[in-house]
Amino acid sequence: MTTAYIPASVPVRVNDDLCIAHKGCTVCVDVCPLDVLAIDMVKGKAYMKYDECWYCMPCEKDCPTGAVTVDIPYLLR
Ligand code: SF4
Ligand code: SF4
Repeated sequence: MTTAYIPASVPVRVNDDLCIAHKGCTVCVDVCPLDVLAIDMVKGKAYMKYDECWYCMPCEKDCPTGAVTVDIPYLLR
């Protein structure tokens, strides 16, 4: 029997199908004041490297392809 590994969810998710980091985009990494986002050079996609977030939203707003989704915790809404 195999047990599926379910990664802990992070607040900022990147849709790999939409992300164009492999074409040189680094917008979300550049706008994040906490530098928690990074580009995975192997996959050529952005991802959340550190699970810290101010929910200030420029990464989601400024992504040219709408690949970034920030899940604001219910208590902060
Ligand atoms: S801004 Fe959007 S397209 Fe650009 S690297 Fe970030 S997630 Fe990918
Ligand atoms: S919401 Fe703000 S702090 Fe969180 S990842 Fe996006 S830019 Fe960074």
